[in-house]
Amino acid sequence: MDHVLAPGVLEIDTELGGWPELNAVFLIDAERPCLVETGPQLDAPRVLASLAGHGLGPDQLAYVILTHIHLDHGGAVGEFARQFPRAEVICHPRGLRHLADPTRLVAAAANVYGSRLDTLYGRMTAVDQARLRPAEDMEKLDLGAGRSVTLVHSPGHAKHHIAILDDASGVLLVGDAAGVKVPGGGPLRPATPPDDFDLELAVSSLHKMAALRPTQLVLTHFGPAGEPQEVLAEAEETMRHWCQVAEEAWSEGHSLDHVERALLERAYQPAPDPSRQPVVDALNGVESNAAGILGWLRRRGAAPEAG
Ligand SMILES: [Zn+2]
Repeated sequence: MDHVLAPGVLEIDTELGGWPELNAVFLIDAERPCLVETGPQLDAPRVLASLAGHGLGPDQLAYVILTHIHLDHGGAVGEFARQFPRAEVICHPRGLRHLADPTRLVAAAANVYGSRLDTLYGRMTAVDQARLRPAEDMEKLDLGAGRSVTLVHSPGHAKHHIAILDDASGVLLVGDAAGVKVPGGGPLRPATPPDDFDLELAVSSLHKMAALRPTQLVLTHFGPAGEPQEVLAEAEETMRHWCQVAEEAWSEGHSLDHVERALLERAYQPAPDPSRQPVVDALNGVESNAAGILGWLRRRGAAPEAG
């Protein structure tokens, strides 16, 4: 179901895996309309149908902006670039080369997702270099008639992450920078996947977003998360807690398995609605979070190569 977040800001449910309220894309309807996220390749037909239903013609879309290039957010970017031939495709400068040639990105995703790559997400096709444009930090993108969005570099979940502030409404689309919280799926959970989760970067991004004083904070997984300052504080607290549990577990056990078990026992909270458990776990698995935190610990020398 589509949902109006603010005047001119529409949330479209991609129904990832057939599940409602798990993954979203956002349309900012302006003189020069802008789509934030594309969703995964497998959900493209549904999202394209929804955009057509809202009257968006092929020549109208001006921008496709990705919060980051993970496949649940940007997997369909090739399809959208073809469908909307005038749209510029914008992402963090560090993500651009992967959109021009997604081979390595898809291979890395296959590593993380395993068999779910082709059943849940699909892959990614290349975007013509000439269509790509880097998002500069705090750049204002003109959507016409006085409307604009601000592109906010917000690394941490990934080094190529940005958030998008709709300047008119104050809605901040935060991608995965604050974590994941799906209806019925329990409290806000940090999203700390491999290969480049970094706690310090993630926390400074949370502070940077708090300083923007958004009126709404909207997660790609899924939707408005609550009072923005409270959500950002909660995000920092849970992220630090998960990292602390993982670091302690590593010093006791020195294996990914041990870290994962410790996170399950000491940090993870099950979904109040049991039917939502597999949904949130499919997208934000504890194993992937453990591996991402472990990678960060290794890079800062807190977890020597082993196990
Ligand atoms: Zn992500």
